[in-house]
Amino acid sequence: GPTVGVLALQGDVREHLAALASVGAVGVPVRRPAELAAVQGLVLPGGESTTIGLVAARTGLLEPLRAAVRAGLPVYGSCAGMVMLADRVVGAPAGQHTIGGLDVTVRRNAFGRQVDSFESTVEVDGVPGGPLHAVFIRAPWVEQAGAGVQVLGRVVAGPAAGRIVAVRQGRLVATSFHPELTGDTRVHDLFVQIVREHPGRDDRRADGADDG
Ligand code: GLN
Repeated sequence: GPTVGVLALQGDVREHLAALASVGAVGVPVRRPAELAAVQGLVLPGGESTTIGLVAARTGLLEPLRAAVRAGLPVYGSCAGMVMLADRVVGAPAGQHTIGGLDVTVRRNAFGRQVDSFESTVEVDGVPGGPLHAVFIRAPWVEQAGAGVQVLGRVVAGPAAGRIVAVRQGRLVATSFHPELTGDTRVHDLFVQIVREHPGRDDRRADGADDG
């Protein structure tokens, strides 16, 4: 299978590595630019986006990560990873480092204190086999999505019903929730399919545009 990195600066790296292995990819932790250069896809795990951004900046990974996204590397971000991928973040502390590339506005810790963590079912377009059991932990939601962004899933019920929690833009996928914590590998499977379809980076689209 394809080699898919998991950004291993902070967060639930092991769970993503296990999910990748069970869908036939070779998951490898990525902590340095040379490791990033060797992968065909990358997962940005859940965790704390401020910490991940800070460590990425300090270890010289932030610019290589931005360049890889511009060059067409398939990237999947879950929760904090969604925040890292967003072009615009509401509720970020001043100076938070992100990667960007996904034309969305994301609100951090969007669901509020009453529902810091909760579980729900989410129907995700492109994921066959019925709704996913979605685990949300101090999760972001997508407040606004650009024209090129496909909305893949929304919260079905409760006070947050209708909120966008899964999106795709070309080779970039993001979910507010953590499929890596549930043993349901269908989102990873969808992502690894995208990686298989785009085994090489495409430097011609260095403007960040993507043909899917
Ligand atoms: N609240 C965290 C952040 O904004 C995300 C939480 C998570 O990944 N479970 O980075």
